Amino acid sequence: MTNGTSPDLLNEWDRNHQIHPWAAMDAWQESDYHPIESAEGIYLWDADGKRYIDGPGGMWCVNIGYGRKDMAAAIAEQVIRLPYTSPWTTTTDPSTILAKKIADLAPGDLNNVFFTTGGSTAVDTALRTMHFMNNALGRPDKKIVIAREKGYHGSTYLASTVTGKERDKSRFDVEKRLVRFLPDVNPYKRPDGMSVEDWCDAKVADLEDMIAEVGPDKIGAFIAEPILCSGGVIIPPEGYHKRTLEICRKHDILYISDEVVTAFGRLGHWFASEDVFGIVPDIITCAKGLTSGYLPLGACIISDSVMERMTGPDENVLFSNGYTYSAHPVCCVAALKNIEIMEEERILEHTRAITPHFQSRLHALEKFPIVGDLRGMGLLGCIEGRPDTPGTSLAAERKLGALLDEACDKRGLLVRPLINMAVFSPPLIITEAQVDEMFVLLEDA
Ligand code: PLP
Repeated sequence: MTNGTSPDLLNEWDRNHQIHPWAAMDAWQESDYHPIESAEGIYLWDADGKRYIDGPGGMWCVNIGYGRKDMAAAIAEQVIRLPYTSPWTTTTDPSTILAKKIADLAPGDLNNVFFTTGGSTAVDTALRTMHFMNNALGRPDKKIVIAREKGYHGSTYLASTVTGKERDKSRFDVEKRLVRFLPDVNPYKRPDGMSVEDWCDAKVADLEDMIAEVGPDKIGAFIAEPILCSGGVIIPPEGYHKRTLEICRKHDILYISDEVVTAFGRLGHWFASEDVFGIVPDIITCAKGLTSGYLPLGACIISDSVMERMTGPDENVLFSNGYTYSAHPVCCVAALKNIEIMEEERILEHTRAITPHFQSRLHALEKFPIVGDLRGMGLLGCIEGRPDTPGTSLAAERKLGALLDEACDKRGLLVRPLINMAVFSPPLIITEAQVDEMFVLLEDA
């Protein structure tokens, strides 16, 4: 593929011509991105042949692991049979069968699937669905979205507007009229002496107060990740999702559960909303684990009751939402094969079985003084630096992510640094011995 181009030249072309996501603009042509050449299972190999454990599982997505020849064969077969056809005027077996499969796996009356190109476009579709529905119902003012600080929902204009990570908004103008943010739900941030139950009451009250302040007739949706993943694997207190859903139902506010990370196995279930947190939302967005990252695909899953309210009094109003690559047949085949592999190899059961070991190795890191908080669920984990670590400057603590990243890299482990945190979401096929291998490198780092 590289036609014998030297690694140095490739590096130069990458620096001079490729803009990577979240590039630091003062130095974008100086950064060296790690060239990765191949992968198998939970391991990656770089251009020098050095092996790494993939701690973040790509970007929380490579659930079935790398190098699956059965996946490659299914994809190749579909490319040869039919690589593309327009979703506006035609349909294909893979997209039809996948829509039915997702409807069967999704909770409650979430039976209607709109395929997108990834997570951001799934969130975009969810928010446009809410706009469309409220206009159809003659409630054009009911469109404000309540989102949460530290929430991440994507990089399109709409999805980034409802994203609550301040750092992700630098030099972008977002349409602030469309959104209000609730304060941090992280139990680690609760005042000294406050119980988790009281913290939950306070966080639920934040939502109630905001609805009262803005007015329920102006709020169209509440969007929440079951666990705030990119925000640092923040697990809301027990009961939070159920109680916030009840409040939304009371005020006819759509509950959008953003399961881009949590769906398709990360917590040991197809969807976390119902199986882990006991809620059936109005809309679920998913992507990533849907194809295990082999090809890009997302889905916005909409309940029957929302669909029924999309019609409105006028005839022939089109839901003009969609992408050239909506329901792409090759991507849909990848998703079907991914689900088949997960079923045949009982990957959900494996994830549930290995979770206690992964979490106990994670929590054993509390012996290190620089560690302030350790949290996780399923095969998700986060290490957060302690602000007042003895013998360490505040600057060092704030850079915990970058420091760990560098030290782990040397030892053959990739982690995902996030300021003063590092997060983990390894491929779900990881074995107990490989979990140990990963934590031995991490402890050493
Ligand atoms: N929603 C959540 C919860 C995410 O974590 C992400 C990406 O990390 C997105 C949406 C955006 O997905 P994508 O990058 O596929 O557009």
